[in-house]
Amino acid sequence: MEWESRTASGVTLGADNCITQSQKLKGLRLCLDKADDWDFDVFELEKEADGYPLQVLTWHVFQKHNLIDEFNLDRIKLINFLRQVEAGHMENPYHNATHVADVVQSMHCILSKGGLRKFVSRMEVLAGLLAACIHDFEHRGFNNDFLIKTQDDWAIDSNDKSPNESHHLASAWKILRNPEANFIHRMPHAQQVQLRKLVIDMVLATDMAEHMAIVSRLKTDLQKVQHQHLENLIRGLQGAIKIADIGHLYAAHHVHVKWSERLEEEMWLQGDVEKARNMKVSFLMDRDKPGVTKSQPGLAISCLS
Ligand SMILES: [Zn+2]
Repeated sequence: MEWESRTASGVTLGADNCITQSQKLKGLRLCLDKADDWDFDVFELEKEADGYPLQVLTWHVFQKHNLIDEFNLDRIKLINFLRQVEAGHMENPYHNATHVADVVQSMHCILSKGGLRKFVSRMEVLAGLLAACIHDFEHRGFNNDFLIKTQDDWAIDSNDKSPNESHHLASAWKILRNPEANFIHRMPHAQQVQLRKLVIDMVLATDMAEHMAIVSRLKTDLQKVQHQHLENLIRGLQGAIKIADIGHLYAAHHVHVKWSERLEEEMWLQGDVEKARNMKVSFLMDRDKPGVTKSQPGLAISCLS
């Protein structure tokens, strides 16, 4: 089944709409053809995919890597899973389904064109794309520090250990409990266990609190460039998802500026909530002061160095 042969929303259109529909699918196909490019414009995909960029892009790259046939994934249940993942994203300025589609696309590029491609197994490709797809599931636009300070349920449930990332992982994985969305049900148990471990290790690595530790271990590993066992490679995969997560730093300038402005607005929204709760406003989150767009060049330099 080709995803592009359906409308993104699953609505069947009448004959009168055939020409429009055909033009829309052509636009979507042209856009997806560019999904192998580092400087992919995810906002173009958002428009062409009728507001369903996450499920359309993830399905496309799963097909592209032949993961559905190779792992005998259940196509209908995968579609149901992806729909539920996309529906679980709030319309935050930054942490929304379009950002996640962007991260999936960046992960696809890293795994198929980056230096890591020589070392990764097929299971690691599947895990990398799945981790990217769920890595911000149900994000509410607040950072971990805020969740911990306010004793939010997500902080309590995770004992203050990466409250956001722990929630994204656990609640997305629970989707698989629904038999209609359990697309890996035919996968041998040992493979399911391996997949889950890889996805957990990658999504938890997106917590910026782990940034310095991961980068430092990765720098050491990169001096020994042989794929010998999983423990070393997982660090490479953690580095990959972290790079994909800030992939807009190497996007076209106008795309990068748009994401930076959205990040700034989301941070200011958290600052508004902090002010309303009489909390100290977090760094860069006060809309009455210069925001992240003034600091982004510094962030880019520190991330890329
Ligand atoms: Zn993210």
